[in-house]
Amino acid sequence: MTAHKLCIHGHFYQPPREDPWMDTIFPEGSAAPATHWNERICAESYAPLAWARRLDGQGDIIEIMNCYEFISFNFGPTLLTWMERQAPDVYARVLEGDRKSMQRLGHGNAIAQIYHHVIMPLATDLEKRAEIAWALADFEARFGRRAEGMWLSEAAVDTRTLDLLAQAGVRFTILAPRQAREVAPLDSDDWSPASEASLDIREPYLVELPEGRSISVYFYNGPLSQAVAFEGLLRHGDMFWGRLASLAAQGAGQGLLALATDGETYGHHFKFGEMALAFALSQARAGVGEVALTNYATYLEQHPPKRRARIHENSSWSCVHGVERWRADCGCCAEHRPGWNQRWRGPLRDGLTAVKARVDQHYLSRGAELFIDAQDALVHYGRVLSGLETPDSFAHARLRPGLTAAARDTAWKLLTMEKWALSSFASCAWFFDDLGRIEPLNALTFALRAMQLGARTGMEDLEPLLLSHLGQAASNDPSLGGGHDLWNHEVRPRRESPETILAQALIQLWAEGDLPEPGGASSVHWPGLSVRIEMTEAGGPAGDGHRAGRASILWARESASDDCAWSWELPQGGDPLAGCIRVGEGGAKCIPAAYIPWSKRQALALAWVRHAEAEQWRLQLTETRLGSHLFLPYREAQTTQTAAERWDRMWSALCWQWIMGEVSASRDFLAFLTGRGKEHPERELLTGRVGLAVAGLLEQERPDCHRLRQILERAAAVNVAPDLRAAQNTFWVRFRGDAAMDEAARTLGFTAGLLP
Ligand SMILES: [Zn+2]
Repeated sequence: MTAHKLCIHGHFYQPPREDPWMDTIFPEGSAAPATHWNERICAESYAPLAWARRLDGQGDIIEIMNCYEFISFNFGPTLLTWMERQAPDVYARVLEGDRKSMQRLGHGNAIAQIYHHVIMPLATDLEKRAEIAWALADFEARFGRRAEGMWLSEAAVDTRTLDLLAQAGVRFTILAPRQAREVAPLDSDDWSPASEASLDIREPYLVELPEGRSISVYFYNGPLSQAVAFEGLLRHGDMFWGRLASLAAQGAGQGLLALATDGETYGHHFKFGEMALAFALSQARAGVGEVALTNYATYLEQHPPKRRARIHENSSWSCVHGVERWRADCGCCAEHRPGWNQRWRGPLRDGLTAVKARVDQHYLSRGAELFIDAQDALVHYGRVLSGLETPDSFAHARLRPGLTAAARDTAWKLLTMEKWALSSFASCAWFFDDLGRIEPLNALTFALRAMQLGARTGMEDLEPLLLSHLGQAASNDPSLGGGHDLWNHEVRPRRESPETILAQALIQLWAEGDLPEPGGASSVHWPGLSVRIEMTEAGGPAGDGHRAGRASILWARESASDDCAWSWELPQGGDPLAGCIRVGEGGAKCIPAAYIPWSKRQALALAWVRHAEAEQWRLQLTETRLGSHLFLPYREAQTTQTAAERWDRMWSALCWQWIMGEVSASRDFLAFLTGRGKEHPERELLTGRVGLAVAGLLEQERPDCHRLRQILERAAAVNVAPDLRAAQNTFWVRFRGDAAMDEAARTLGFTAGLLP
């Protein structure tokens, strides 16, 4: 019997959250205690999928699976940009998943995704070309190969988009079954109407395009994908596998069983969903039920389309009205709140489109003097963003020769302007239920940044144009008001200038205790820019007083810098947000530190709290290393330590000294640490710190297994369970199946007799 082919696809994506000046994500309160949603969802979904546990009946680990090795997937380029910087271990597993699937199947699991997740049928031709080219460049830079497939944002499609994909060498995409309009055999014109119920989704279809081009289209299994995404099929691994296996049995040997959902379904929407997935994948890998895992590209090579399809123009997977969800009050919404409407969608789309049209005109007219071919330069700019091409080689190939330094800088600024203008069309802005949400406000902030770069390169102020449209939109929340209110209260205050950026760099250095000495210099780096601060004068006591110097701001992928002089009177008492930072020769301009938006203050608070907490910890360790020797055994009827509350305040440092073997301890000391630790507020910090120390041990060339066991035994003696996830991950990669490490494996929670 031929095995039934199974392809499970995850679409991994996050709305763009970057600040368009610093190009980094600032704190989002709703994700706390995580810093922002990328970080939180990475911890709940992307990381667990990279290191999915399979457990035996005793709860010991049988296997840590990299699910990316066995599922088809696409990640948004903007999400991977963040992950590469902030979660490099998870990022490495994503790349490894593609590499290993390539070795196993001959085609990799990863496919590309439209760069900014824009709704392609609503984009101009130049935008479509740029979005596709940037996505392909990003993919190639990361995965080291050309992408064979492309995920369309919201599966939103029109023939022009498919044709541009085909022209760019993309071989297939994935759509929802109801996006098929009619189908016919390859060799006859016997077209019949398609419906979700009648469409045979087990094979790819050929969509014919102008000038003899074509592209293959897969239609995923709607009901099954629905059950995974919304009906709790992931609650139990055996339930999930049971459904897959029974569907497979029904159609054994008759094509591909393919399901596609948001990747975040695994672990974020359904806690432990990654374990259910890992279980199903392990069953399929073991050949249970004659199911064999594959991916779209592999299947396509083995089973070229036998039928043709025509699509519904301007259709998508999450709006039954086509693509209206991203420009009109069509009724599609994540949650329906009584009395709310989405009439704001039209004006938001119209306003951003009007701005973009003017930005494009400006780009093309100024660009005509600067680029050899301005459109071509824009389409190829993704190669610079992805690192496939250096700015120098790009400039050499695409800028007109003999430009002045100022003209070259203008060219780079125009490209950055286009990047943020494109970013303002990420589909998320229209997807949810209100104009006052974070996504529409971010889209407007990207437009604000693009307009600012336009103005710096000679374009008129487009704010009145944007506001003429925004004035027709309103939040459903009366307290947030209309489009103008949101713009004035939420968006415009985010506008940065070189002066305000300088002020933040100074406060950040202060928060981290890194302000330079007079005559010295320090730098603050964000992905979008770097600020170099020189200190010429510093007076007054430690926390306050007068400071002055010069600063230089270097923007990423631009060629000129913004330089200025500054002075800062830190107010009495030292509140860094209370004073005023003077900028320009003679301190001409006063930047009140209080202007800084909430998210950026929160980032400064985070910089401070990390720095201060680390200092406190260092101090406590120094003190407790000596003082813990003075925790004397109790006498007579003594039941607790004298001044127990004061010892308690140093609980985690005292525990650390014991666990790390810095001190030997009396029975009373251990009983005190155990008793006080039950609900100690520093418990999680401590389990994290010990976990990292254990992971550090396993990074060594030959880990000290005796010490590893000792640390875990000592932790157990005071009832502290270190967070061993990182250590287990490292162990799995480096030492599984190593007989000499067998005891360490058991200590770390792996099952006996772990196979290599
Ligand atoms: Zn709709």
